[in-house]
Amino acid sequence: MPEFDNLVAVVTGGASGIGAAIAARLAEGGARVAVLDLNPADADPAHFALEANVADRASVDAAIATVAEKFGRIDVVVNNAGIGAQGTIADNDDDEWARVFSINVTGIARVSSAALPWLRQSPSAAIVNTSSIAATAGLPARALYTASKGAVLSLTRAMAADHLREGIRVNAVNPGTADTPWVARLLDSADDPEAERAALNARQPHGRLVSPQEVADAVAYLASPRSGSTTGTAIAVDGGMQEL
Ligand code: NAD
Repeated sequence: MPEFDNLVAVVTGGASGIGAAIAARLAEGGARVAVLDLNPADADPAHFALEANVADRASVDAAIATVAEKFGRIDVVVNNAGIGAQGTIADNDDDEWARVFSINVTGIARVSSAALPWLRQSPSAAIVNTSSIAATAGLPARALYTASKGAVLSLTRAMAADHLREGIRVNAVNPGTADTPWVARLLDSADDPEAERAALNARQPHGRLVSPQEVADAVAYLASPRSGSTTGTAIAVDGGMQEL
């Protein structure tokens, strides 16, 4: 039997990059997938895609209600929507701190709390949050982003403890620099994108960017009953960068 047979999975930010790979991987495993994204038109038409802004409570509540109405259940929530921020603490103003935290951190609380009543009824409930290598490696000139992704790890542990006895497991993935449209946009803005890409590859311990599929496989494991004894932890998919 496929690992996610009959299950319904919500994937935020599932219209691009890592989220799109996660949505495809869960669907491959038999899940019915709802993508919540600012740009639902970019999602694979095989999924049920809805416009939703994780930074907006009313938008999230409406989207989760629509998913529940369509499928009658929600078993898996993947909180993957996130944005980057460059610079040191001298570079981002209060509005930018509030904006990034509202998407990367509070967004997880909004989506997960809206889905809680459905997760509590699932025989196989799991939440997976996308953190980042930034949370553990301390990348330079990424203070705000790093703080937000560190908060994702702490929130993951807190949610795991709070909902353990309700049968809801909560884990995270920490991707290293991954080959997604986000990273492509950053490379394209460089003077010499090809040289920049080569340099970026060379900075990875295994000499290349992480593939979104590798992250999606880790998420699929954490979302499936195969990881039934695993909660409150994170899997690094970073080519070993965290350990170096
Ligand atoms: P991406 O920009 O390719 O895709 C992000 C998706 O999230 C887009 O479809 C976008 O529309 C959606 N999104 C953004 N803000 C949203 C909001 N407020 N509400 C709903 N949807 C929203 O990015 P990606 O590289 O695939 O990154 C996905 C996640 O992985 C992010 O949380 C990011 O922090 C994390 N991550 C990425 C990398 C990397 O190198 N690409 C590394 C570590 C962690």
